[in-house]
Amino acid sequence: MMAQGHMIPTLDMAKLVASRGVKATIITTPLNESVFSKSIQRNKHLGIEIEIRLIKFPAIENDLPEECERLDQIPSDEKLPNFFKATAMMQEPLEQLIEECRPNCLVSDMFLPWTTDSAAKFNIPRIVFHGTSFFALCVENSVRLNKPFKNVSSDSETFVVPNLPHEIKLTRTQVSPFEQSGEETTMARMIKTVWESDSRSYGVVFNSFYELETDYVEHYTKVLGRRAWAIGPLSMCNRDIEDKAERGKKSSIDKHECLKWLDSKKPSSVVYICFGSVANFTASQLHELAMGIEASGQEFIWVVRTELDNEDWLPEGFEERTREKGLIIRGWAPQVVILDHESVGAFVTHCGWNSTLEGVSGGVPMVTWPVFAEQFFNEKLVTEVLRTGADVGSIQWKRSASEGVKREAIAKAIQRVMVSEEAEGFRNRAKAYKEMARKAVEEGGSSYTGLTTLLEDISTYSS
Ligand code: UDP
Repeated sequence: MMAQGHMIPTLDMAKLVASRGVKATIITTPLNESVFSKSIQRNKHLGIEIEIRLIKFPAIENDLPEECERLDQIPSDEKLPNFFKATAMMQEPLEQLIEECRPNCLVSDMFLPWTTDSAAKFNIPRIVFHGTSFFALCVENSVRLNKPFKNVSSDSETFVVPNLPHEIKLTRTQVSPFEQSGEETTMARMIKTVWESDSRSYGVVFNSFYELETDYVEHYTKVLGRRAWAIGPLSMCNRDIEDKAERGKKSSIDKHECLKWLDSKKPSSVVYICFGSVANFTASQLHELAMGIEASGQEFIWVVRTELDNEDWLPEGFEERTREKGLIIRGWAPQVVILDHESVGAFVTHCGWNSTLEGVSGGVPMVTWPVFAEQFFNEKLVTEVLRTGADVGSIQWKRSASEGVKREAIAKAIQRVMVSEEAEGFRNRAKAYKEMARKAVEEGGSSYTGLTTLLEDISTYSS
């Protein structure tokens, strides 16, 4: 699926599978090829066999700009249905590829529901990749079936997500508008198709590990009765440092400068702030965030992805005042490399699942600031189940203009995980999960065994 947050783990997954001697073929579109090809080229000497095959993305045919081949390039939310229509037109070329390549299995993204039918035509299993946590899928399933948001009368009132381990509370503003409206919009129909196709698929592969969300792995497999394999954290399995640092996007800094800056700082002293590849902040929210960072008094690396001019959002004198304390990265940061550095003491994140898991793998407490999609659910996993993070109180599902979070709340949450009486507890728990993640991917660990089981299941598959 053409989105950074989906392509990155796909590449890591292909490498992991290939490192076990299984041939992997990645299917993507021409403008996204470089995300995969550089890394594959670099790893050729390891004998890892990954092939790339391309399918044309019918952008123009679906009234999208010619260069639009990724979710974050869609000009507006209204054009989302066009994007999904275009992906559906890739069914026939995909089936031609399957005919040629004759794979034993098709692993495909949740957003490509029609691939269940494609796999069935060739009598091979389709395995779904959601790119999210067991926790989020369990919550999503319960919310979809029980519609508990209907039982509250205001946006601030919370409801308990029914039939789940632990008491997870949400407000209706944290649930997707598609789910709430009940209207038969194109997007609502699309999401329905995703779930229906998911339930007909062979199973689901997760970038997660058993020890991280044990109760929810058990719930998903035993109560919901789904076949699933946890094989992550994938970023920990991918040992290609260049790959983790580059990922093919422009940045105002290279990884060496960034590491040099971090090397000059004390252990656990720097807050890393980044909101993934899609979320967009308004000028006023960026301004408020800057003021919050400054008020926290902590050292920081802040990744800013905005088209806005500095004077529209950057507080006057901010860069001068924080020159010693902070580093602003414009564009793309080498996130995994930063999070693995011992100077990083906390991660302010939008709770995209890759980022959340990279934070867990780095052993850092998090400040959670979800923006849209299942990020609100991942936040609950971090703050209430793992208890490795503090929230800033973001409760409004809004893809393109996160706003409303005040500087005081930002500064307070950062101080909670960095310097308050609770900080040590956050840090110790975060370190414990990092250790569990490391063990999970080692030979004999839960995720290592998860992949072994997955490969065995595929080899003995009969429909
Ligand atoms: N990422 C990165 N540098 C950046 C921003 C993002 O390397 O400056 C990577 C990050 O490490 C993660 C992915 O992009 O692997 C973002 O995925 P996530 O699921 O966290 O969020 P999304 O971008 O899908 O909202």
